[in-house]
Amino acid sequence: MSQKVVAPANVRSIAPYVPGKPIAETARELGLEESAILKMASNENPLGSSPKAVAAIRGALDQLAYYPDGAGYELKMVLSRVFGVKPENLVLGNGSNDVLELTARGFLTRDDSAIYSRHGFMVYPLAIQAIGATAIEVPTRGYDTDLGAVLSAIRPDTRMVFIANPNNPTGTFTPWEELRAFIARVPSNVLVVVDEAYGEYLPPELVSPAVSCVVLSRTLSKAYGLAGLRVGYGVASPEVADVMNRVRQPFNVNHLALVAAQAAIEDHDFIERSRANNAAGLVQIEAGFKRLGLEFIPSRANFITVRVGDAAGVYQKLLAKGVIVRPIAGYGMPEHLRITVGLPEHNARFLAALEQALKG
Ligand code: PMP
Repeated sequence: MSQKVVAPANVRSIAPYVPGKPIAETARELGLEESAILKMASNENPLGSSPKAVAAIRGALDQLAYYPDGAGYELKMVLSRVFGVKPENLVLGNGSNDVLELTARGFLTRDDSAIYSRHGFMVYPLAIQAIGATAIEVPTRGYDTDLGAVLSAIRPDTRMVFIANPNNPTGTFTPWEELRAFIARVPSNVLVVVDEAYGEYLPPELVSPAVSCVVLSRTLSKAYGLAGLRVGYGVASPEVADVMNRVRQPFNVNHLALVAAQAAIEDHDFIERSRANNAAGLVQIEAGFKRLGLEFIPSRANFITVRVGDAAGVYQKLLAKGVIVRPIAGYGMPEHLRITVGLPEHNARFLAALEQALKG
């Protein structure tokens, strides 16, 4: 039977998201044990998961015959308490990817445009294109988000602006005062989506206060170590959150993810350990790059991006040594690699492998 259905042009032109290479696949290809592979490619937490979250999941295993709470009542209560927002300000997502897509689905049509920054997180153009809206890419200042250029790019049909802070894959950060001044100048019919997937790694004085007229998007995938469960949340005005809640799937966050997130959000000790390991790891890796004479982009996130020249070649050489990092040619950075901060021994193994890879 021949298929005659054709997807719309905007869907056919979507370039699929390329994730970090999985450990199992790499082990298979190299004929190695999975335990011999070091993955520093997907900004996952090298400390594992919040132990409180893991314990909560164990306690919930006999509840899986039931649908999850589609309203996420308990998790919203915990988030409200910890972050000082109201439950009606919250939208839960199947990862923060879901939250980002809900903003696009709720507020964009084919007749609109939405803006994101060059070298910005890949999911923004994907979400915009999936709707059939026009994606406008704005140049950066060096690797920093250029808020002035973003303002200038706003057109009468623009309804949304995506800003990642810190940004992936560059790790660059825009101070909150600059962002606040920018938000104040954005027309009120344009929704500003501030993506803080790496917000927990910031020192407390740099963390943004939640404000209305923006959607703040956050995730449990990074500092809480729950990437495999898929859970994130958005903070917005009640009106914006209501729209996003209308367009989500009724049970978009599964029961184990809800239960784990509730516990993880209050696991302050784990977040503190994640932050400390990350801060020390960035110092360790930066020192290694300096020793090797490599140019890197100072990072506020749990990864760091470095210029190695022939990034595709160096990536392959690292892979052959069982170290998976992330090539970012797809982000317009063909000479750079992005490395997720690991434990001290991971960082040391990566730096030693990199030194060898660069020698030829
Ligand atoms: N935003 C940014 C900037 C990211 O780097 C990521 C993860 N790659 C996400 C959002 C999505 O993460 P998740 O869906 O796991 O919450």
